[in-house]
Amino acid sequence: MSKRRQRSFVVIGLGTFGRTVSTELARYGDHVLGIDIDEHKVSSLSDILAEAVIADGRDEDALRETGAGNYDVALVAIGEDLEANILCTMNLKQIGVPCVWVKALDRVHHRILSRLDVDKVIHPEQEIGQHIAQMLHNPLVRDYINIGNGFFIVDFTLPEQLDGQQIATLELMEKFNIRCLGLLRHGEFLPCEAATTILKTDDKLLLFGDRSHLRAFGETL
Ligand code: ATP
Repeated sequence: MSKRRQRSFVVIGLGTFGRTVSTELARYGDHVLGIDIDEHKVSSLSDILAEAVIADGRDEDALRETGAGNYDVALVAIGEDLEANILCTMNLKQIGVPCVWVKALDRVHHRILSRLDVDKVIHPEQEIGQHIAQMLHNPLVRDYINIGNGFFIVDFTLPEQLDGQQIATLELMEKFNIRCLGLLRHGEFLPCEAATTILKTDDKLLLFGDRSHLRAFGETL
């Protein structure tokens, strides 16, 4: 198998969010340049990231000097200072970074960023808040991935009352229009095409379907 080409990332703003994204990317083996105006934030990451530089993202020339324009993707992770966030975004576009993702504060900020033609606007607090609420609301949902257009893949813990039943008795497709992609048992993946598969407490069912159907199934348990 051919090795995936290493992509290079520049992360501007090394607060909790920017720091987490940049250190995770570095852990995956990606080349990361971290930029912040705060010397302490920069020095604390200098051994972890490929490069860490003190610079003000509002200053186009300073940003150009860091070499940010040669990176594949930039993430603007400046939170509180709206002006700095927007100027930094404009500067990154100006110096030719091909893909720019930006953290937004609120909907108005989101609209402004959309006009600047950024590639992705992210709302980390809102997104993680929705995720946590979903899992709190249904304790059987261990995690889920939003596929878009209302479709989700859900990792569902099988409740005790279904122990020993055949998967067919759930009537996932017939009753709920949900597809079972497989199940995880003691960390091993088992396909679930056979209707006779016997379920066990604590199996993790991987289910694919739309939100309302998944919710309807969850509510029967
Ligand atoms: P988090 O929640 O991720 O900690 P936050 O939403 O509180 O962040 P801020 O603290 O405003 O966001 O900014 C995150 C980082 O961005 C800080 O480390 C700050 O020093 C840095 N920063 C702010 N303005 C600039 C700028 N003009 N250029 C570079 N870095 C900046």
